[in-house]
Amino acid sequence: MCAPHNPNGKPFCCDICRAVPVAYHQEWDYLKANTDLWHEWRGDECAAEPVDPSEMRADTPGHLTLLACKGPADCQREFRATSCRQFPFFPYVTDDYRFIGLAYYWDFEPYCWLLSHLDRVTETYRREFVGTFDELFNQWPDEFESYAAMSEEARDYFCGQRRRIPLLHRNGGLYLISPKNERLAKTTFDTLRKFGPYRA
Ligand code: SF4
Repeated sequence: MCAPHNPNGKPFCCDICRAVPVAYHQEWDYLKANTDLWHEWRGDECAAEPVDPSEMRADTPGHLTLLACKGPADCQREFRATSCRQFPFFPYVTDDYRFIGLAYYWDFEPYCWLLSHLDRVTETYRREFVGTFDELFNQWPDEFESYAAMSEEARDYFCGQRRRIPLLHRNGGLYLISPKNERLAKTTFDTLRKFGPYRA
């Protein structure tokens, strides 16, 4: 749905010039042993804009490896990384440390079709997302901390924009969260904003 809006014709989230996927080290060990889909990101995969990888590596949390795949034409869906499967969402963690649902990577609003069509997220996807991260956080509290920090970043961004944060709540509802006091207001999909070329 988004690819026609990307000049190179690739879905934005699978375009290495727009997003660099990550994998947990254990996940990378599994992928390395089972598929030739991925390699460690070098920084020269985006021919139009090669970058020095050192800066981005320095900014990447130590438990993650930056990767690049062969591209959407050669995707092997069963060997997608967790980062592919969760995109464009991340687990939203409140200021008082509760994982309450799915928020999204706000900088993809003008590019990702789904962010203008949140009603298309299935209940199955939401349930599996919540179950996966509940399990992950149980086993790996540091990962919970990473998403607590990401959620704080989201609150700062939306606060600056004077907007509330859309949330697919783990209880099945749709809410807007105040980034200042995290008060939840129930809402409906038809009231949500649409972005970029998906406004029409
Ligand atoms: S593995 Fe598939 S879903 Fe993941 S970035 Fe590559 S093409 Fe996209």
